[in-house]
Amino acid sequence: MTKRSNVESFELDHRLVAAPYVRVAGRQDLGDGTEIIKYDLRFCQPNEEHLDMPTVHSIEHMMANFMRNYTDKLIGFAPMGCQTGFYAITNGLEQDELIEVLTKSLGDILTATEVPAANVTQCGWGANHSLEGAQAAVRDYLAHKDEWLEVMR
Ligand SMILES: [Zn+2]
Repeated sequence: MTKRSNVESFELDHRLVAAPYVRVAGRQDLGDGTEIIKYDLRFCQPNEEHLDMPTVHSIEHMMANFMRNYTDKLIGFAPMGCQTGFYAITNGLEQDELIEVLTKSLGDILTATEVPAANVTQCGWGANHSLEGAQAAVRDYLAHKDEWLEVMR
């Protein structure tokens, strides 16, 4: 028995999802015409597989950087603590636009030759990165792009 929660993702039954996927995890209207849209970008099937931490960390760095080359609506890009995916928090970036930006940015990861800001000046653990791991995970995620909108099993 699970307790009800005020955290949206704790209300999601993680046994019923079919990763990889792209899911709108929340919409919050700030009342002035601004709508915050939060996305659950799930790379790995929950409780069956996960990304290793250097891979998660390098994807975070690159997406935070590369997505902003295609949109000014990204507020934040953050890893999930369970290491199965990421949250993209946006200022009204609708799903079709998000998918376009996501696809281009992930493509940039595949051709990257270094992880931006992977150093002790710009990062809290500059040695904890894997460009190769990030590229392998992203290649796999992109290979399943036609399944991204099928969230539930
Ligand atoms: Zn970092």
